[in-house]
Amino acid sequence: MAEKFHGYAAFNKEGILKPYSYTPKPLDDEDIEVEITHCGICGTDLHTIRSPRGLTTYPIIVGHEIVGKVSKKGSKVNNFNIGDRVGIGYQVYSCGKCDECTAGYNQLCPKRVFTINDKWKDAEGVQYQAHGGYADKIRAHSNSVFHIPKEISSAEACPLLCAGLTTFVPLKRHKVGPGKKVGILGIGGLGHLAIQWAAKMGAEVIAISQSDKKRDEANKFGATNFLNASDPNDVEKFTRSLDIIFSTSNGSNTDWNKYIGLIKNHGTLFLLGVPDVPIPIPAFAFLRFIKVEGSLTGGSQDMRDMLEFAVKHNVRPLIQTTPMKDVNEGIKMMHNGKAKYRVVLEN
Ligand SMILES: [Zn+2]
Ligand SMILES: [Zn+2]
Repeated sequence: MAEKFHGYAAFNKEGILKPYSYTPKPLDDEDIEVEITHCGICGTDLHTIRSPRGLTTYPIIVGHEIVGKVSKKGSKVNNFNIGDRVGIGYQVYSCGKCDECTAGYNQLCPKRVFTINDKWKDAEGVQYQAHGGYADKIRAHSNSVFHIPKEISSAEACPLLCAGLTTFVPLKRHKVGPGKKVGILGIGGLGHLAIQWAAKMGAEVIAISQSDKKRDEANKFGATNFLNASDPNDVEKFTRSLDIIFSTSNGSNTDWNKYIGLIKNHGTLFLLGVPDVPIPIPAFAFLRFIKVEGSLTGGSQDMRDMLEFAVKHNVRPLIQTTPMKDVNEGIKMMHNGKAKYRVVLEN
């Protein structure tokens, strides 16, 4: 009988997860099998289950902030041992040879396989659905598997593997550091990490929120200033003062006009969240040479750099844990915004 992995799958948009077993891809020479101990719940998991654009193949096991122990490895894997504590993020395969991979953009590899809602193809063209980390095991190519430093707990490592990477990489690429004024719009799962990275990189960090409620918390994470976007005086005070704004907003009713007004000439609006609707950007922004950028997780070297930086500068996510079997409860906590700030499932 073919070997089965067991997890919790969504069978439709309603998103009540139920036990589900599937046949994993064969373990290739360069693959690693991981026995999952922890998996974070990311907004992208919820989004994939809801499938607003109809792109999800059901049943689907989501989860792409995965930590566990190496339980098997292919014959050509030399840099991992059985029992090593490792992590997997949003990607389980990249070729490692193409222009994007060699430039450090493994996530843009044309042969990439994402951890969830994607397909593996073997040499004969047989397809295997890629299922994620709300499960007991997963297989991935060894260049998409990362050692977790001993200083970081398994539960805390999970959100770093997606939320952490997604926020770290653009800050690193923009060489955020002393002398830069960085606005972080939204203090939640992504924002609370973005504030920490930017502060530890030495930038002046302005946390931007819709009310005063998170002021103290933002300061604790390292924000030097707080901007209440509902207060016109506050908005006025920071007009054209920021080098860059990192927006974690997924909202369709975000007032982009207001936030672009906070950015200096030649500055950048960076979209970390991915709204489902096109976002209206006023043309005057381009007359001030303001750029709009986005990004998608990070490459393999980015992941190693991020984990190293987290150890060196003590950057950690704020998490709550819940048993894997209570996954539906965990999802509810994320949905209703009660989670502070990420939920991690434990096997
Ligand atoms: Zn490639
Ligand atoms: Zn994610």
